[in-house]
Amino acid sequence: MPTRRELEMHEMWCGADTSGELVWHVLTSDKSSTLCGVEKQDESTRRHVTDRHCFSCMKTFQDVVEAS
Ligand SMILES: [Zn+2]
Repeated sequence: MPTRRELEMHEMWCGADTSGELVWHVLTSDKSSTLCGVEKQDESTRRHVTDRHCFSCMKTFQDVVEAS
């Protein structure tokens, strides 16, 4: 898992994953989409609460961190 400090450098977005479960995704640097490719929807007015993180985003994020 990425460290908290590493995660704080990226914006997170809470949305449904491919199975419809709410998870925290990691956004790309331009904040237009997620690392796992789920389309980011503008739900900024809604507050979601989940403890789950998107596995695909975490994996991709970890690869990016390790490569840098
Ligand atoms: Zn994701």
